[in-house]
Amino acid sequence: MKNTIIANWKMSASLEGVHAYVSTFKSLKIPKDRDIIFCPPTPYLTFMDGALSGMPLYIGAQDCAASQKISNTGEASADMLKDVGCSHVIVGHSEVRQRTNPTQKDISAKLQNAIDSGLHPIFCVGESLEIYKINKTKDHLEEQLKALDALAKEKAPLKNILIAYEPIWAIGTGIIPTMTEIEDICAFIAEHISKTYNIAIPVLYGGSVKGKNAGEILSLPSVNGVLVGGASLDPKEFHKICMAD
Ligand code: PEP
Repeated sequence: MKNTIIANWKMSASLEGVHAYVSTFKSLKIPKDRDIIFCPPTPYLTFMDGALSGMPLYIGAQDCAASQKISNTGEASADMLKDVGCSHVIVGHSEVRQRTNPTQKDISAKLQNAIDSGLHPIFCVGESLEIYKINKTKDHLEEQLKALDALAKEKAPLKNILIAYEPIWAIGTGIIPTMTEIEDICAFIAEHISKTYNIAIPVLYGGSVKGKNAGEILSLPSVNGVLVGGASLDPKEFHKICMAD
């Protein structure tokens, strides 16, 4: 499986900043053996699609609506995201979960809408520090992964999903699990998916990935890529992560 490197810019950008970022990133060597996906804030998706056209780079959104109903003020449907050039969409990021408190049904619906629209969902799962401390991470992840049950009736669409394991306590904190822990949990997720749905889905790690630790993380056998927040905001640092091995 090709390694996937995802930049989640969260709500951090301006049009001027995106111009400067893209022109710096484009001047650097783009590795062919990686899928690189930029997830800018929604207003910049169209610009990114134009600016990166013709390059081996992908664009993703940071969330999509759980329903395709028109009366969803403030939301963007998976179809619309596809329309403006997205190939991917993040679903279930912990910051979105904390802000909007979605039900398992909402998460399943977002995943289903994304797949129906031809997008690859990047499905985020991960435990809080409290859960980690009482050693219940795997139980928690099994529960979160049940969002896939509703989609699993048809096997084909599931293979379009990527899973991102993001311990909440590692996001934006500079603290990461040990390499043994990352490997153990990513292997657990891959095995669980394979046993439950009889399918192989790439498992990524996210949480305080930087240029200096990306190589070690990407060399773990069960890690198929990384989801990067803060360190993706600097094009040179993000490029270092894209080149790491
Ligand atoms: C994220 O927002 O998904 C993330 C992993 O952030 P950071 O890399 O800053 O920890």
